[in-house]
Amino acid sequence: TTETVSEELTAAIRTIVDYPKPGILFRDITTLLGNARAFRRAVDALVQPWAGSKVDQVAGIEARGFILGGAVAHQLSSGFVPIRKKGKLPHDTVRIAYSLEYGIDEMEMHKDAIRPGDKVILVDDLIATGGTAEAATKLLQQMGAEVVSACFIVDLPDLGGRARLEALGVPVRTLVDFP
Ligand code: AMP
Repeated sequence: TTETVSEELTAAIRTIVDYPKPGILFRDITTLLGNARAFRRAVDALVQPWAGSKVDQVAGIEARGFILGGAVAHQLSSGFVPIRKKGKLPHDTVRIAYSLEYGIDEMEMHKDAIRPGDKVILVDDLIATGGTAEAATKLLQQMGAEVVSACFIVDLPDLGGRARLEALGVPVRTLVDFP
């Protein structure tokens, strides 16, 4: 068929109205993950610009970024670094606070997870305002990483997340837009 990857992935994502609260359209990628062909196509499309080049680490944002990031890391033969909510990692960590819609939260990463100069790709399922990915990028950059790309299956372009990462010098790759 002539269906594009983007159309196939869009069709594989389920939308839940008013979750987790009224007015939100939750873009649920579990249906994409459960569709073997769509899952493979999404991972292949995310890594495609990096095939054959050296990426030291893939950093995934808890929790859906772990699923995709693990697959991306395997495909690129790179390491994987988990970026987690505070209090979950057992060894010495670096931490960053970031704003949520109501209040602030903190995320952290092991201090020894990144070596200065490492080329790192950041992965999550979706970019909305970009606040989460911006904080993760700052954490990686503070540890001396060169964040060569931030990759997401879904972009909510009206929320402006892409520009926040580009302002930190990070190119953004997304596969599906939900305007
Ligand atoms: P943000 O920091 O605003 O870019 O939000 C991104 C994070 O929140 C990602 O980890 C997403 O998984 C989650 N998220 C935000 N909005 C949505 C949405 N409409 N549907 C699904 N996940 C979302």
